[in-house]
Amino acid sequence: MVECINGCGGMAPTHYEGVEIDVCGTCSGVWLDFGELTEIVETRDASWSANVIEKTLASLGGKGVPAEERERELTCRVCSLALPASNYQTNSGVIVNACPDGHGVWLDSGELETLQIYMERWQDIAARDSGQYQDLLRQIEADYAEKEKQSLREGPAYFDFINIFINRLINLME
Ligand SMILES: [Zn+2]
Ligand SMILES: [Zn+2]
Repeated sequence: MVECINGCGGMAPTHYEGVEIDVCGTCSGVWLDFGELTEIVETRDASWSANVIEKTLASLGGKGVPAEERERELTCRVCSLALPASNYQTNSGVIVNACPDGHGVWLDSGELETLQIYMERWQDIAARDSGQYQDLLRQIEADYAEKEKQSLREGPAYFDFINIFINRLINLME
């Protein structure tokens, strides 16, 4: 059995949005291997009430990483490197701990759902206003192809096309 990196004990494999993820029965934290977060964000089986979505989005935002998050000592379960805390998409307000070598990401209880709600909102905006963003999309496509050639070591989210698109869209709107 896989140990929870939060130090609780064993984690149970759980099917979630078509992906087998590891969930801790004690702290409800989740470990996602490389690529699993992207798959989950792209699959939209789970749904939330308008009330939950509104509350979640209202609770988000803010740049940077709070001190108590920076001080946590979590290590990658694959390579044992420290997992630095980062603000997902720079300013989502969701603090994630990702392996610098791209093995995976640690999410505390509730953070996976929060990320999904956050990303789905931007997917909806992107789909609704896609005509308006054709130039941006083309530009990112070109940058993306170039970056993929240069390096594969900057972590899964960084190279995920839809994430880059959403990130730029957010910057554009702020
Ligand atoms: Zn745990
Ligand atoms: Zn690692």
